[in-house]
Amino acid sequence: MAEERRRYDVIVVGAGAAGLVAAEALGRNGYSVLVCEARSRVGGRLVSHQIAPGAAGPGAVDLGGTWFWDHEGFVEAITDQLGVETFPQHLAGDALYESAPAGVQRLQGNPVDVPARRFAHGAGGMVSALAGRLPEGVLRLDEPVRSVEILPDGVVRVQSRTLTADADQVILALPPALAVEQIRFTPALPADLVLAAASTAVWMGSMVKAVALFDQARWRRAGLSGSAISHAGPFREFHDHSGPGGSPAALFGFAPSAGLAGVPLDEIGEVFVHQLSRIFGTHAAEPSEVRVVDWSREQYTAPQTVHPYARTDLYGADVFQLPVFGRLHWASTEVSPAFPGHIEGAVRAGFAAARRVSETPAPAAAPSR
Ligand SMILES: Cc1cc2nc3c(=O)[nH]c(=O)nc-3n(C[C@H](O)[C@H](O)[C@H](O)COP(=O)(O)OP(=O)(O)OC[C@H]3O[C@@H](n4cnc5c(N)ncnc54)[C@H](O)[C@@H]3O)c2cc1C
Repeated sequence: MAEERRRYDVIVVGAGAAGLVAAEALGRNGYSVLVCEARSRVGGRLVSHQIAPGAAGPGAVDLGGTWFWDHEGFVEAITDQLGVETFPQHLAGDALYESAPAGVQRLQGNPVDVPARRFAHGAGGMVSALAGRLPEGVLRLDEPVRSVEILPDGVVRVQSRTLTADADQVILALPPALAVEQIRFTPALPADLVLAAASTAVWMGSMVKAVALFDQARWRRAGLSGSAISHAGPFREFHDHSGPGGSPAALFGFAPSAGLAGVPLDEIGEVFVHQLSRIFGTHAAEPSEVRVVDWSREQYTAPQTVHPYARTDLYGADVFQLPVFGRLHWASTEVSPAFPGHIEGAVRAGFAAARRVSETPAPAAAPSR
């Protein structure tokens, strides 16, 4: 049976950090809000693997974003408000450097990392806490938005997998390149905007992140920080990813997706462990668990057609600060003029979009093209 069509003040497309922040702020200020999220979970590029109590756990490891830094005041304020516990990234000990001709060298100290903080229950715990602030019924999972249409009376009609809903305004809280690939806009978006959106790189959308869990952080006992840089590859950088107090014990690595295209994820995990043991020693050859995400294969993160000149200089561009047709507002980390790419950028973009909604007069008629 068809669902009753409802009218909202605002529909938010995407329940990553930006979309959740925008929805929460608008809801708190009396707006009726619907959030359509394509995945069956919230958080987008923030997702954590929960570890059951056992050899390595309990705890959580991050398969997407993980750190925030001291000067990132919006993330700090949100974690304070939500009562989300944080802890410092482990830095102590020496770093390692791997190159193809010279093998592995030990560096004095850790020039690889800068001081940063992490979420004690994972970045996924932080976004779940944020989603928990939304009133019942606001968030709809498994609802990829497929079309956004401005009707002759100026109302915006949004269609997702099973829903058709109307709103005065819409927040596009997903990377612009993904929005123009996945959503059919009527009227069509201006050509220069489509080009800018399609050529705006998705931050970390072409990276593989792999995490290995261990019964203990033996590298720390050897005076190593867990940080390493490799010019031999395929993984290029490594960091300690253990939980607060070293438990669960974990290391993670980043590799460019392009070099691992077509390789099954379990094989990437094997390659990762092989490289870990090459760099950190044979004890790293036997993790209790390995998790791999190739973010370029995530249909709701990376566009299928990556623009050949995907650009980061368009981050925070003016074109993304203006409402489109006076009804549509951009909000993802890529559109934030400050800290684009970071969680901080996403949070700021969410607040900025909510503010723009509140500054925009209600629609009176359809826009002229
Ligand atoms: C491997 C990795 C490591 C990172 N490390 C860090 C770090 O340490 N520190 C840091 O600050 N940042 C880091 N980042 C970046 C950080 O994760 C992002 O800046 C932030 O999470 C982006 O949030 P967002 O809401 O802007 O976008 P997203 O998280 O991408 O949210 C967009 C949402 O829209 C949904 N969506 C997509 N298409 C549709 C559709 N058609 N309809 C409805 N919903 C849709 C998606 O499912 C998603 O939930 C990292 C990212 C990755 C991938």
